[in-house]
Amino acid sequence: MTLQVFGLPVSRGVAIGRAVLVASSRIDVAHYYIDPVDAPAEISRLRQARKRVSVELEALKQAVPADAQHELVALLDVHLMLLNDEAVAEATCAWIIDRHYNAEWAMAAQLEVLARQFDEMEDDYLRERKADLEQVAERVLRALADKSGERGTSAVGPKVGARDFAGEDPLVLVANDISPADMLQFKGSVFTGFVTDVGGKNSHTAIVARSLDIPAVVGAREASRLIRQDDWVIIDGDAGLVIVDPPPIVLEEYRFRQRQSQVERERLHRLRHKAAVTLDGARVELLANIELPGDAPGALASGAEGIGLFRSEFLFMNREGELPDEEEQYIAYRDAVVAMGGLPVTIRTVDIGADKPLERMSGQELRHEHTLNPAMGLRAIRWSLAEPQMFEAQVRAIYRAASHGPVRLLIPMLTHANEITASMAVIRRVREQLMREGVAHGAVEVGAMVEVPAAALSLPLFLRHFDFLSIGTNDLIQYTLAIDRADEAVAHLYDPWHPAVLRLIADTIAQGRQAGKDVCVCGEMAGDIDFTELLLGLGLRSFSMHPACIPAVKQRILRSEVHRLEAYAKDVLQAEDPRSVVRAVVPGGVRVAA
Ligand code: PEP
Ligand code: MG
Repeated sequence: MTLQVFGLPVSRGVAIGRAVLVASSRIDVAHYYIDPVDAPAEISRLRQARKRVSVELEALKQAVPADAQHELVALLDVHLMLLNDEAVAEATCAWIIDRHYNAEWAMAAQLEVLARQFDEMEDDYLRERKADLEQVAERVLRALADKSGERGTSAVGPKVGARDFAGEDPLVLVANDISPADMLQFKGSVFTGFVTDVGGKNSHTAIVARSLDIPAVVGAREASRLIRQDDWVIIDGDAGLVIVDPPPIVLEEYRFRQRQSQVERERLHRLRHKAAVTLDGARVELLANIELPGDAPGALASGAEGIGLFRSEFLFMNREGELPDEEEQYIAYRDAVVAMGGLPVTIRTVDIGADKPLERMSGQELRHEHTLNPAMGLRAIRWSLAEPQMFEAQVRAIYRAASHGPVRLLIPMLTHANEITASMAVIRRVREQLMREGVAHGAVEVGAMVEVPAAALSLPLFLRHFDFLSIGTNDLIQYTLAIDRADEAVAHLYDPWHPAVLRLIADTIAQGRQAGKDVCVCGEMAGDIDFTELLLGLGLRSFSMHPACIPAVKQRILRSEVHRLEAYAKDVLQAEDPRSVVRAVVPGGVRVAA
């Protein structure tokens, strides 16, 4: 039966594929195709993992103290029964044999199917056994992870992308939530679209989805409950709509739209070598936001004139809390600098915290999700200053990378004068050290993110200390309006058109220009064509965005006349309802904020 689920559109385009449901396990589940000839080896991995868990559970049973015997032993027996259920084992193997899933993926897929069956049970006791099932599955996944950690002895064949299986159906991923770190792992993976139950339009998960340039809908609330494993799903990333089990006529319509948007992309792509100059001659710089050095070639291919934001925190993720040392970071930054071939690379110091937590920091368990309000907690420069060794290593790596080409260092979330002084002291110390040690390094311009209202209201201070400013509109909106950007429940209040937000952006651009300092916008607003004219009218000449957004923004710039837009920007700033001005002036008006 056809079903429609509404959420927030976060990454444009249409994806059509079969649903892969991912349980929100505390364990990272690798998803890749195996070569069909490796299926027996993969099944054997699974069998070995189950055997290990069985031994573990038996050992636990033996260790239960006599006075607790009854309840705990009964529980462990339930776990053993679930683990040794042959029907479950066979169904799991079927995912490996029929769909060529790796063992972990097969396990997660089968868990999803069973979890649903448990949910539908009438009997309370049986329904509650779902938690046991999840615990057992988690143990098996852990055992599989241990096994595949033994490099060289692993039975896993080479990882194969979806494209290598031309005959396979495309896949879309459906989950309650996907962390930014998980999302990062899906770069270049088999999925052609994403749907999550939770998340806001400017959460980091959504941002990474956009950087993958894959249609995505977040905040679709019930999606992972309503969609079943293997259902055919259409993701309409423009409308924030998910259609489950669509009738043929709807499917055909969306296939047509997919072809059209491909043609449009190819048309825009032809602009990539054209300079972004308005009709009245204003030159605009279009830069790329990246997460990893490997994104640099894609940025160049989209026509980026440099990197305006390298979110270095993604180098710190998916490594079980172990931090990358100076050398590893230096190599990553150097690779990005070299790949950009003489174009500037702006490396932002680590912005860990809020919706980008690390599982562990400095050997301690540190789970940000358990702090009361992580967006306002130990995040970004606050964390860096609390971990001076880590911060120094990062600054050293950035300065060393600057010996290979132009580098700028950008500091996130600065709020207080003493944070500026402390950061600058570290930078000075690192420069002196490198000089003393005779280590190769280059000149680095130092800039500040303006993403906390306090910063936007202390511009003279910031302009005295920094070479350039970069406006992080995602956080500036979040902190100005007191709206958690990752919370879909308040997504309707996350309003980039709010007059207070526009006023802070306008002041930052104006004061920066007056002081003769570069000002860039590197938040999502820079890549949103609804804001291109306004930002140009406010005097912005440097935009940094996902590479995929560059062609469409460039097209807008090529059609603009700055002298007209200045008057328009003034009207927008003065309006109580800025959207009404935009609708009247900009062709096509403005989409209503989600
Ligand atoms: C921002 O806040 O606008 C920004 C670019 O930083 P991030 O999205 O990584 O917080
Ligand atoms: Mg930010």
